[in-house]
Amino acid sequence: MKDESGILFVLSGPSGVGKGTVRQRLFEEQTELQYSISMTTRAMRPGEREGVDYFYRSNEEFEQMIANNELLEYAKYVNNYYGTPRAFVEETLAKGKDVFLEIEVQGALQVKNNFPQGVFIFLFPPSLEELKNRIVGRGTETEELVINRLKEARKEIEMMHAYDYVVVNDDVDKAVQRVKSIIQSEHLKRERV
Ligand code: 5GP
Repeated sequence: MKDESGILFVLSGPSGVGKGTVRQRLFEEQTELQYSISMTTRAMRPGEREGVDYFYRSNEEFEQMIANNELLEYAKYVNNYYGTPRAFVEETLAKGKDVFLEIEVQGALQVKNNFPQGVFIFLFPPSLEELKNRIVGRGTETEELVINRLKEARKEIEMMHAYDYVVVNDDVDKAVQRVKSIIQSEHLKRERV
């Protein structure tokens, strides 16, 4: 018997590991998954668009959504709120389509509590040294902030044990291929006869 509802895939991992890049590349290649566009209170960056990259909201609007239980998960990250609109995820899965979330670790753990049947993928840095280089390489942060980010990243890495899969992001193309094979194998597992 085939399970009729879609599969929820959650890609997460420490800050600076390259989740956004892997997700963008994955979506250039495949059209079956539905990307869940997050809400955020952070300012729009140049080149970003409302309703494409994020839904940009004020603090008040975001807190109202929390109060109304309209978010599947949310977290505060670098002083801004980020969250997943619940309705899109539930409605899309109910239509039998797969949904893909790309979120930070605190949020992913909330989704796991509410949605244990989801498929949780942890993107792992090639090494802590490499992660440090990436965080430092952004060049926008003070030394103190870099140290805090690294401490945070170490804590986040310990969370990988809660995930179904760990994918090393040593090379973006390879990481994308690994995520694609996970998606394929999860489909096969659910095609029961
Ligand atoms: P950025 O501001 O660089 O777009 O994203 C910052 C972090 O927020 C990234 O780690 C990204 O994965 C995470 N993020 C994006 N959307 C969500 C969301 O809906 N929920 C949570 N918990 N994290 C998110």
